[in-house]
Amino acid sequence: MRALKSVKQRYQPTPILTEMMEDFRLMTNDCIRIGLEFERTQDKKAGTLSMRKLSLLCYRQLKRYGRYSGYRLCAISKAAGILSARRKSIRRGFLTRSPYARKPVLSSCYGFRVEKGKLNIHIDSRAFESIPLNSHTLKILSDPEVSVRSFTLTKDSLSLCLSKEVKAIETKSATGIDRNLGNLTVGNTQQVAYYDMTSVVKFAENTRSVIRSFRRDDVRARQGIASKYGRRRGERVRQLLHHVSKDIVASAKANQQVIVFEEIRGIRNLYGKGNGQGSAYRSKMNSWPFGEIKRQIEYKAPWEGIPVITLSRSETKGTTMDCPRCGERLQVPVRGDAGHYRQLWCIRCRKWRDRDLVAVLNISRRGWVRFAHSMREEQGGAGEAVKGNAEHEGEPLILRVDASKPGRNSYPTKT
Ligand SMILES: [Zn+2]
Repeated sequence: MRALKSVKQRYQPTPILTEMMEDFRLMTNDCIRIGLEFERTQDKKAGTLSMRKLSLLCYRQLKRYGRYSGYRLCAISKAAGILSARRKSIRRGFLTRSPYARKPVLSSCYGFRVEKGKLNIHIDSRAFESIPLNSHTLKILSDPEVSVRSFTLTKDSLSLCLSKEVKAIETKSATGIDRNLGNLTVGNTQQVAYYDMTSVVKFAENTRSVIRSFRRDDVRARQGIASKYGRRRGERVRQLLHHVSKDIVASAKANQQVIVFEEIRGIRNLYGKGNGQGSAYRSKMNSWPFGEIKRQIEYKAPWEGIPVITLSRSETKGTTMDCPRCGERLQVPVRGDAGHYRQLWCIRCRKWRDRDLVAVLNISRRGWVRFAHSMREEQGGAGEAVKGNAEHEGEPLILRVDASKPGRNSYPTKT
């Protein structure tokens, strides 16, 4: 399978690059204008504006910029994307403004080459401009399997889209990921790791209190400071999540596991305004980046050949309430069950279990059932049942990991 990822670095644009980015922006806007004009004048029966049609309309007109021809195609393709997103919004009934590219940017899949530690890009058909690549970028590019698909320049960053042909690993079992407010629970019946995520919530609370303490009666100054602290919070959280996602992917690779997520789309709707919750509670619940950890794992895992699946809503029904061992409906603690905070009781097994543990065991088991089933179908429906995630006698080994310095094998504690 082909895996994609991107690498980003800072750089200092030369005057000619700044000029090119501005030209690319104008070219994109020209194409958008031509496309909109076409859609307005043609009747609906003529069909939608395809990339091909847009190229025929625009290509000649873009010649006057005198830039490398590949950039014309990329500007047209960018405009086509913007126009098709607009049509989609209109179809869904959203109000849309006329689209317009505001920031200077240059993005192209043609006319560049990486040579001697530099990215050389075309200016016109003959001249090149080179941008030095930093050691981090070069280290990633040193892998002979990696090829550069395209580059994107903005006023302060350069990003390269990379691809690599990877062989899918042979999987033996599944590991589930359950995303909670204070922790991230990862594992299956063999072993479960709790990543302590309270620091993420703490970052958010600190940021909120800092912003709140700012009293100057000037909206613009307040917004400026709020966005600065918000950005800083985002960077710190992302950094922490990168440690965790790297650790999870490494562990899945070592144990030959498929990674299973559950669909939690719509979780933000639970903590919206007007749901009868306080603003402190809502900000706490909304501060945990549920999507970001998934995004990171979803690109890191394929890069290592590890499959990732997401269980749909119907497949995850009852993951939090059914006993992972016997399937019995679990019971929440009632009065008199003191000391069983966030635990659930199974009547049949006569056992208390942590609710995050219950969820992750169910997710990993259901994920494995689905994954093994799809593998069997791919291999022509051989009748043999795929082993793995088999019922494991005894309780899983529990590891507690500090998210700010993970490395789950370094301090396992059996509880
Ligand atoms: Zn049970």
